[in-house]
Amino acid sequence: MARPRIVIVGAGFAGFTVARKLAKLSHGSAEIVIVNPTDYFLYLPLLPEVATGLLEPRRVTVSLAAALPGVRVILGEADNFDLDGRTVGYTDPEGGTGRIGYHRLVISVGSVNKLLPVPGVAEHAHGFRGISEALYLRDHITRQIEMAGNASDDAERQARCTFVVVGAGYTGTEVAAQGVLYTDDLVKPWPELHGRPRWLLLDTAERLLPSLDHRLAEASDAVLRERGVEVMTKTSVQEATDDGVRLSTGEFVPTRSLIWCVGVRPDPLVDHVGLPTREGRLVVDEFLTVPGYPDVYAIGDAAAVPDLTMPGEITGMTAQHAVRHGTTAAHNIAASYGHGRRRAYKHHDLGFVVDLGGLDSAANPLGIPIKGFPAKVVTRGYHLLSMPGNRVRVAGDWLLDSVLGRHGVQLGLIPGRAVPLDVNSAE
Ligand SMILES: Cc1cc2nc3c(=O)[nH]c(=O)nc-3n(C[C@H](O)[C@H](O)[C@H](O)COP(=O)(O)OP(=O)(O)OC[C@H]3O[C@@H](n4cnc5c(N)ncnc54)[C@H](O)[C@@H]3O)c2cc1C
Repeated sequence: MARPRIVIVGAGFAGFTVARKLAKLSHGSAEIVIVNPTDYFLYLPLLPEVATGLLEPRRVTVSLAAALPGVRVILGEADNFDLDGRTVGYTDPEGGTGRIGYHRLVISVGSVNKLLPVPGVAEHAHGFRGISEALYLRDHITRQIEMAGNASDDAERQARCTFVVVGAGYTGTEVAAQGVLYTDDLVKPWPELHGRPRWLLLDTAERLLPSLDHRLAEASDAVLRERGVEVMTKTSVQEATDDGVRLSTGEFVPTRSLIWCVGVRPDPLVDHVGLPTREGRLVVDEFLTVPGYPDVYAIGDAAAVPDLTMPGEITGMTAQHAVRHGTTAAHNIAASYGHGRRRAYKHHDLGFVVDLGGLDSAANPLGIPIKGFPAKVVTRGYHLLSMPGNRVRVAGDWLLDSVLGRHGVQLGLIPGRAVPLDVNSAE
């Protein structure tokens, strides 16, 4: 290896940021290689808008080759690490295998859907963590309304018009808020379905958005209830069947749509690296290196990064942290070659945005709570600024949606069996 080679495993918020910053800092003096299963960076915060028919799927993807000139992209999934021999093994999308050596390694493989051991959930629920799952869900919701429109049996019609979202974090809250607008739009051609779509949002916590500022939760709760979403706190699913779900309250809800948004857990690959973990995430120091291997960095959802603003805690699994981990890791890698000084990761929360569809959002930029249209402007502005590409296309979709309404057709490209909730990710 003539030039130092830096291998980054995973091109999400954290890995993409390291690659982009390092490419700038190194001016070509280092070889930067990304190993990632897809040829794009996925802007996950807008995935609920894909699942509810607002954004076209490719809008939330950014081509790695186009956005990261000079960075080599290997399409593949890393599946083994030899930290003493400094190599990473991977399998490409066609089943071929390869192995690459490194001088510095960054592990940024993110997280996967979290399953809970509830009977029937793995078979009947659908989550979304990637494009294919979001696209499947969009088609599924569309199909339920279309089939309800043609159903002769009233019970079937009602079941197809009922959507149960489990998990009222930001993903579940956005899906329920935006989903009800989508189905209200879809039923327009069927007068007999008007007023029928029923959306339930469940969480075992005492309120919506349990990990966020309570003022965001209150604003979101009000919007959801105004739209007729049944918000059920301190409630969970006890069983899922072909015909519906039984809630912890004992109620049986006939439905064909169980949407699983209970959160994420670190990618299972983390368990196979052979390094210490905390809450399933790779332990790192404040400089983002793993114990005993100063040339190996772990960042993003996959890493337990100490939160120096809250001693004893680790940073949350958010895009905000992942991006800033990426920036710090890039600087520290450059510093390890004598360019600048390494720094500890320290980041104060800058606030959060929750897009509720229509003209509604809830946000707390710099801790100041806002809602309604001002929050909408902040939310959309934030997403456009945060996306590393495709901004005009996303803004174009938003504009078209506000003028023309949703384009409610199924593409039918993804069969349900292709997007199961991953049984391997069960706790
Ligand atoms: C639907 C949804 C909405 C969200 N909304 C928000 C939000 O509004 N605000 C916010 O702050 N956070 C949000 N989050 C959380 C945020 O997206 C994550 O915290 C963030 O993506 C973490 O970044 P990361 O780089 O660690 O992981 P990711 O962005 O998940 O990237 C991991 C990358 O690693 C790749 N990878 C996985 N396994 C391998 C392997 N074996 N080999 C190679 N590559 C691999 C993946 O394909 C992916 O490209 C949301 C998450 C979801 C799922």
